[in-house]
Amino acid sequence: MNIVILGAGLMGRLLACQLARAGHAVELFDAGGPDALNSAARAAAAMLAPLAESAITETSVVQMGVHGLQRWPALLAQLDEPVFFQQQGTLILWHRQDVAQAERFTRQLDATCLALPDLPAAQRLDAAGVAQLEPSLGTRFTQGLYLPSEGQLDNHQLLDALLHQLQGLGAKLNWHSPRAVGDFAPGQTGQPDWVFDCRGLGAREQWPALRGVRGEVIMLHAPEVRLTRPTRLIHPRYPIYIAPKQNGIFRIGATEIESDDLSPMSVRSTLELLSAAYSVDSGFAEARILDLVTQCRPALPDNLPVIRRLGKRVLQINGLYRHGFMIAPALLDVAMELFHTGSSALADRLSLSIQQAHD
Ligand SMILES: Cc1cc2nc3c(=O)[nH]c(=O)nc-3n(C[C@H](O)[C@H](O)[C@H](O)COP(=O)(O)OP(=O)(O)OC[C@H]3O[C@@H](n4cnc5c(N)ncnc54)[C@H](O)[C@@H]3O)c2cc1C
Repeated sequence: MNIVILGAGLMGRLLACQLARAGHAVELFDAGGPDALNSAARAAAAMLAPLAESAITETSVVQMGVHGLQRWPALLAQLDEPVFFQQQGTLILWHRQDVAQAERFTRQLDATCLALPDLPAAQRLDAAGVAQLEPSLGTRFTQGLYLPSEGQLDNHQLLDALLHQLQGLGAKLNWHSPRAVGDFAPGQTGQPDWVFDCRGLGAREQWPALRGVRGEVIMLHAPEVRLTRPTRLIHPRYPIYIAPKQNGIFRIGATEIESDDLSPMSVRSTLELLSAAYSVDSGFAEARILDLVTQCRPALPDNLPVIRRLGKRVLQINGLYRHGFMIAPALLDVAMELFHTGSSALADRLSLSIQQAHD
């Protein structure tokens, strides 16, 4: 079939590769360039942390995240280039004065594990337990939590590997070419058979409920920091995460601001993020700042993802919010079921909303 995909961020590239590998003629349109600098996907920390995120999201998203963790290794194995993927858990830390907040967080995670008994539970750590997991931290943190099943990947490597595979498969890639769904009449002569709309926030004009949630990430080169897994700090004002990638690269982020402001990072955010990171590991003092990135996450009013049908041959996938990498494999698998059979048993199992748009 001839398939048009709008948006070559996370969802668009994943879908395009899947469909091109299956032998379909795929044409992609993106408002930006191949570097994906316009996308939330490029800015992200790409942690795959369904249990940690259960403190702020619903069970369905946690289930999609569990599905994602199982599916990523197979999806990455289909690519021609290696993409860093790690599943060595998440470490949660807090300073002594924030113990009450940490207890609340722990109770939320315990409730998630009661609701989803297959999810490996959070393990409570004492100072020795923290030091054993991350020796470079020593025994400065007297308590922590370890979420053993969680992971992360390198989003920059993933976006590049997907791009190169699409080029190799002969997909037609149109950069700096914004399009809307209405520009196509799928099924009609000379038109694509199907259109997939994966424009994230770029779909807002036709989907007014979409909003941007600003996030800020600092990319550091910190060869002296020996943290080996995503580490989150529970903190009343700066609840940061530190995601160590390969070769001494770290992504540090936290901020969630209800705004679609894409202006550069503020001094306050930069100071807060860096001081909080330094409070976890003083090795960050000598780090080099490689990039300060701001971008908006595409979110719907309930912060849940949606697949929306627009007629018989248009699928819109959006609202991935702060969980895109965690849930993208689930959305991909559901979209492929809908494409092949018109229905999705997986969507029912994961309580993923399939909506019908009336326009
Ligand atoms: C700071 C930050 C940190 C994050 N951290 C994590 C994390 O740790 N874990 C996690 O799972 N998720 C994380 N996310 C969320 C994740 O990045 C997003 O959920 C995901 O990228 C959304 O994917 P998408 O394909 O819908 O949109 P995007 O990745 O934003 O891609 C949309 C694409 O559509 C293109 N486009 C826009 N308008 C048009 C148009 N008119 N025509 C054609 N193309 C168009 C854009 O140029 C862009 O390339 C984070 C996001 C941010 C911003």
